[in-house]
Amino acid sequence: AKEQGGNDYCISTPEQKIKMDRLFNIELEIKDALKKNEFHIEYQPLINLKNNQIVGVESLLRWSNQALGPISPGEFIPILEKTGDIVTVGKWILWTVCNQMKLWQENGTLLQKISVNVSPIQFKETNFINDLQEILNETQLDASYLELEITEGTILEIKDSAKTLEALQGLGVKVSIDDFGTGYSSLSYLKQLPIDTLKIDKSFIDNLDADGEIIVNTIINMGKNLRFRVIAEGIENKQQLDYLKLQKCHEGQGYYFSKPVKSEVIQKLYHQSSKN
Ligand code: C2E
Ligand code: CA
Ligand code: CA
Ligand code: CA
Repeated sequence: AKEQGGNDYCISTPEQKIKMDRLFNIELEIKDALKKNEFHIEYQPLINLKNNQIVGVESLLRWSNQALGPISPGEFIPILEKTGDIVTVGKWILWTVCNQMKLWQENGTLLQKISVNVSPIQFKETNFINDLQEILNETQLDASYLELEITEGTILEIKDSAKTLEALQGLGVKVSIDDFGTGYSSLSYLKQLPIDTLKIDKSFIDNLDADGEIIVNTIINMGKNLRFRVIAEGIENKQQLDYLKLQKCHEGQGYYFSKPVKSEVIQKLYHQSSKN
């Protein structure tokens, strides 16, 4: 029989058995996911808040497995990180995304940037810079169109992060600090590193609905004074958008504009947006 909560010291409740089985099955199935073509990438528009045009996209990994159905990256990315497979999958992501950007450029979908999430495991891997260089060569994408999203935590926790950031700058690739505001780093510290963009974490945008203006306002103004580009993620309603526009935040992203979508849809949205 089930008891009301408080029984998490016991690992044999039916709920926990189901959770363990699911984890086991995910770990089993994800091993062949790349080979079986089960990954694909969706793209979420990044909007210039001055003129409402699409200026770029963030790539987001998707996985759908025959037995398990679609599984969210929040659930499977930590598993890929634990097994180290995120390095191989991460290379596939970078190649696919650079290639997609090149294809868009060839058919007149002229975005300013494509933003890609990079796991700490990938970022600290010794071949990371070489692999990236190779991918840029192979896909013929000009490095200045690529922006890597690295979390504030990654920058703070990885010993040689400054060196890797400098190597990225050397390649001409841009860097954005993801989940900004959640990692307790000072802006003056970040200013010493070759970083282009701060992405204000969704939790702060959520709090705009409940008196959180002062924090968002402070991040935007300090970020802008230090010459970062500032982008807000997780914009879901017009009130949030209006406030961010008032504070002259450079860019925005969120369900209010569009959910992550397939590459063909980005093309359509781009052509609609550039007509207005
Ligand atoms: P993230 O980098 O912070 O990505 C933003 C997440 O917020 C995405 O979830 C996106 O779909 C979601 N989102 C965007 N706008 C809104 C909004 O208005 N409302 C709400 N509620 N959500 C919004 P997703 O795709 O499930 O990804 C979750 C996390 O998984 C990402 O967080 C990122 O940390 C990781 N991830 C996703 N794709 C990749 C990838 O290709 N590589 C790596 N290393 N991590 C990835
Ligand atoms: Ca991100
Ligand atoms: Ca985030
Ligand atoms: Ca995140």
